[in-house]
Amino acid sequence: MRHRISPSSSIRIGDKALALWDDVLITQTAPADVNASILYIGKAGEADLNQIDVKGKAVALHVVPDGINLNVSLPEWRYSRYVMNKYGNDLIERGAVAILFIADEYGEHSWPYVQANNILGTFDIEGGARAAAPKAAPPIMWLHPDAGEWIKTEGLELHASLRVESFTYPSVNIIGKIPGTDPILSKEYVVLSGHTDAHGIRNVINNDSIYYGADDNASVNVAMFATAKALKKSPGKRSALLIIHGAEEKGLLGSRYFTAHPTIPLASIVTILNGDMIGRNNPDSAAILGSQVPHQTSATLTKMAYDANAEGPQFKLDTLWDKPEHIEGWFFRSDHLPYARLGIPSLMYTTLLHPDYHTPQDSPENIDYKS
Ligand SMILES: [Zn+2]
Repeated sequence: MRHRISPSSSIRIGDKALALWDDVLITQTAPADVNASILYIGKAGEADLNQIDVKGKAVALHVVPDGINLNVSLPEWRYSRYVMNKYGNDLIERGAVAILFIADEYGEHSWPYVQANNILGTFDIEGGARAAAPKAAPPIMWLHPDAGEWIKTEGLELHASLRVESFTYPSVNIIGKIPGTDPILSKEYVVLSGHTDAHGIRNVINNDSIYYGADDNASVNVAMFATAKALKKSPGKRSALLIIHGAEEKGLLGSRYFTAHPTIPLASIVTILNGDMIGRNNPDSAAILGSQVPHQTSATLTKMAYDANAEGPQFKLDTLWDKPEHIEGWFFRSDHLPYARLGIPSLMYTTLLHPDYHTPQDSPENIDYKS
């Protein structure tokens, strides 16, 4: 289920009509009808917001990155959310009917990333929190830095009419099965998992707009084809189910769908081995997520994975990224998660992040094919 801001929406400040996405960014997908006077309160962090009555006002303020940790992956994509958490939510709670964030330098840098994400809107599967058409909410908008000059004009009003379009949008899970050889154990399944999707065509970074997804996650899909070939030649005692999930990047939608509509009894899945990005970084190193408490779902499975590594490739195994205090929360960001939440023994294999993550430079020539 997909919802997005309709191009028929309009935003006007004073007598100035703003072009959606170019002059003004909308960072949430929700309908709104707002006619309110604008209250300009200057720089976030400088004004004491608690002293200002924002009720019924469209509040305009300059964002500042102070106190926001941008030392994470995809900081540009996340900046608008961080700013909202830092200043925005409180203003809305105190009765502001709209927020106009005036971009700082980093906000300008983030603009094309946030634009690309928010034009697409939100995605979910039936039953998910974002499946139903969104309810009206105070609009959260971003303006370019020059707005800092003209928005101070006395008596300015915001007129925002935001419409949301809702429709279904296709995705698929691609599933293959290789029966096991043991008459009893073949009723059990080892699930091997990857995801089909990347980020399509988006904002240009370094002269390219195609987000190839070579590491994320063609690297794993190719490994799954190789595994399927090997298993076909020499099947295991248990059956193997190979699932290349759809719409992972949209919120683990394929894996959430499969666990809600499994093609085999969930109780017959003894483990899921999920891979996400295995083609880059140091060829002697890797990480196995879900191998440490509290993410661990099975000590037996963890031991099997460690033993297999010791017998085989002897990767140096990273231990930091599986820790709950790690800032990236990597364990929660791939398709094993819905299975792990059901208590199915789950592991995620990865060679971790790199600077080309979710950019057009995650391209085939940057994959380390040999190792
Ligand atoms: Zn991925």
